[in-house]
Amino acid sequence: MEEKLRLLDPFTEEYKVSADLGTEQMYQKIDKEIDSPTLFDRWKTQQPQCRFGQEGICCHICGMGPCRINPKKSERGICGATAETIVSRNLLRHVTAGAAAYIHHAKRAATTLKETSEGKTGFSIKDEKKLKEMLRCLGLQESSSPMEMAKSLADFFFEEINKPVEEPSAFVTAFAPRKRLQVWEELNIIPGGAHSEVLESITRTMSHINTDPMELLLNATRLSISSAYTGLLAAVMFQDILLGTPKVTSVQTNLGVIDPAAVNILVHGHQPLLVWKILEHSQDEDLLCRAADAGAKDIKVYGSTDVGQELIGRGNGSARLAGQIGSWMKQEFAIATGAVDMMVVDFNCTIPGLKAMAERFHTKLLSVEPVVRLEGVDTLAFDPSKADEQARAIVEMAIEAFTNRKPDRINIPEHTSKPIVGFTTEAVLDVLGGSLSPLIDAIVAGKILGIAAVVGCTNPHRGRHEMSPLVLAEELVARDILVVSSGCCASDIQHSDIMTPEGYHYCGDGLKEVCYSLGIPPVLSFGSCTEIHRIVEVVTALSHTLNVDTSQLPVAVSAPEWMDEKSLADGLFSVALGLFTHVSPALPVTGSKFLSRFLSHRESKRRHMRNESTIVDILGGEFAIETDPVRAASLIEYHIAKKREKFL
Ligand code: SF4
Ligand code: SF4
Repeated sequence: MEEKLRLLDPFTEEYKVSADLGTEQMYQKIDKEIDSPTLFDRWKTQQPQCRFGQEGICCHICGMGPCRINPKKSERGICGATAETIVSRNLLRHVTAGAAAYIHHAKRAATTLKETSEGKTGFSIKDEKKLKEMLRCLGLQESSSPMEMAKSLADFFFEEINKPVEEPSAFVTAFAPRKRLQVWEELNIIPGGAHSEVLESITRTMSHINTDPMELLLNATRLSISSAYTGLLAAVMFQDILLGTPKVTSVQTNLGVIDPAAVNILVHGHQPLLVWKILEHSQDEDLLCRAADAGAKDIKVYGSTDVGQELIGRGNGSARLAGQIGSWMKQEFAIATGAVDMMVVDFNCTIPGLKAMAERFHTKLLSVEPVVRLEGVDTLAFDPSKADEQARAIVEMAIEAFTNRKPDRINIPEHTSKPIVGFTTEAVLDVLGGSLSPLIDAIVAGKILGIAAVVGCTNPHRGRHEMSPLVLAEELVARDILVVSSGCCASDIQHSDIMTPEGYHYCGDGLKEVCYSLGIPPVLSFGSCTEIHRIVEVVTALSHTLNVDTSQLPVAVSAPEWMDEKSLADGLFSVALGLFTHVSPALPVTGSKFLSRFLSHRESKRRHMRNESTIVDILGGEFAIETDPVRAASLIEYHIAKKREKFL
């Protein structure tokens, strides 16, 4: 049953956790029939959450601690650290972890590219044009051999990430918006080698080393730039080269896509390489015969979270993803359908509570990434040179798990939707006829007021799942603001018809006309959270085409339910790019008067009245904290209107 995501009154009793009927139905089933708390139940038991943690004023990095800053009782930690030091040091620690995870992801893709170039893997070069473009931008030699070029690119990446901090990263200087580079150069925040930057950052945050809040903040900003180019950009580009650049397509989404008659494999995480091979081998004739012998009519692979977003625009040969289940917060509910035989987890966003749910069903959990370890769960660490045999082994395990299924425990909600997905910079240019001019003309004519990116994770912090990204997207398009989305926000919005061509009925008149004439939805799905890079690419292209700095564009960013440390790195990078950046929940900086005033939109207005400088003065971007998505849309609209005054 395809239907529009039903928006619910967050204060009704009827719906307990989610605006999505499928999730809500599964939650109520688990509540009544299965003795297994979910993420939503655990969220409730944590309320009220600790104010010291929320505000970032708890420090436990040395044995004298933990210390908490309480203005009425203790304004400093035992060592004398102020709230400003503790908050900024904690922020840098968070950003370091997030940046390291992105860079780790890029390294995994680079290793696969290198081993492929040496003929050691079953992968090949699927996007030679992009490979050549990368070489050209980085000043490397092209050759007639794709494998030689791939080797040269992978080798260059490893040399780059090992450079000292003093030598600017070529991945930043080659791909960042030109006018932005000047801003970053003046602030000395163009990063060097990513490994060195991570090492330098974590060293500075050890106890009693660096206590200057401004310096720690600039360090975090510099690292966020390193993460954006050596992490996100490199991962996206290498994956495009190996798997092909995604294409615009449509896909069935939500829990209702699960087929009770098939062997079902759910892939969950962020890294699409091994799971792409699983998709391919799920259609091997001999494995399909074995599945049939076990009583299944097919073998199906479904996406969950970002790795699903990575696969839906790609496919592998004739093998296609059977559907995208949804955001990371659906993982326990997918298992509770009783029809997921195997769940393959490849990187972050696998919750520790997942195993408890899997134990109540027959689902086999498997980690496929060396750094991902779940207590009591098997690991088959991805080895690019063995990817084909590993993928086949995983499909065999899924067939085996299927034989343990208990048909009387299967309960799959009916709800599905069919959004348009797979937008990239290339796809946007394609839709626009090869140049950004039609988009710019529509902005100048006021048909589109501006562009807002609604990106990143989802978070139960408002007590209802799937509300904020969708309400925000609906509010923005109604105000003629084109929305681009990625990450779990995109997974949530995909459950609505706002991501179909019919979605233009949500729009204001101007945006409606543009969407109707181009045949596009008003919310463009740009894939995974790593693929936020593709949105940065579009913003960079706009800045170059118009020869203006990114901070001058009528563009804004929202992370309406940010959750992990990667999001903090992304958020800071967005501000470093000069963009107005809405976040909810509040960043863990509000315990520092200096940081909250310096970073925050509302406070910065007051500081300007006192002639004090804020982050807008040095970077052009700022954070706006607002938990209500309707009010957040108004803030974004106001910001875009201001930018238009200068832009036009
Ligand atoms: S570094 Fe200072 S503030 Fe932090 S735990 Fe140690 S004594 Fe307390
Ligand atoms: S967007 Fe956030 S929550 Fe979703 S999969 Fe990516 S990191 Fe995890």
